[in-house]
Amino acid sequence: MLTSPLTFHPAPPVNDTPMRRAIYPGSFDPVTNGHLDIIARGCKLFDEIIIAVVVNPGKSPMFTVEERREMLEESLAGVEAGSCGLVVDSFDGLLVRYAVERGAEAIVRGIRAISDYEYELQMALMNRRQEPRVETVFMMAAEDYSYVSSRLVKEVFKLGGSIDGLVPPSVEARMRAKLGDA
Ligand code: ADP
Repeated sequence: MLTSPLTFHPAPPVNDTPMRRAIYPGSFDPVTNGHLDIIARGCKLFDEIIIAVVVNPGKSPMFTVEERREMLEESLAGVEAGSCGLVVDSFDGLLVRYAVERGAEAIVRGIRAISDYEYELQMALMNRRQEPRVETVFMMAAEDYSYVSSRLVKEVFKLGGSIDGLVPPSVEARMRAKLGDA
């Protein structure tokens, strides 16, 4: 029998339970309201989202992985998650391997502008090549946060600018304490 070139053969699922689980990976140095917005949007699609802090010794972060996890834990209370479970974790190594280990069928990433898309597309295609069972889901940032990045928030804050409304209050307090320590 001839197979139509349009026939799509989906890869077998990562887990065969009806539970829809996704990984939202990132540096979260620190978590911003933009990240929280993406998590709330992801909650409409998934039963559980694992927010996974990437352990990347290459970058010189403002906060330790432990501090970033704590800030996420503190901030998630303010997210409208409905019945979606939110879990904070950290990992190093290959993201798709971690996703499969955790029984996640999707990776969630946030897109702010077309400039994000180029890098994200490359990553998504590379991840698909490594592990076809894991799909990448891009979620569009809210307009209000589309210019917000952890990097810019840190820069502005260090220069004495206002980051009110861009990060949760507990994060701002931690940044203040960190700057005082420095
Ligand atoms: P990474 O170093 O992996 O880019 P980040 O913590 O900077 O980690 O971001 C994690 C994810 O969240 C990325 O997909 C990024 O595009 C997305 N993101 C970051 N800031 C925002 C924002 N303001 N709105 C929507 N998505 C965002």
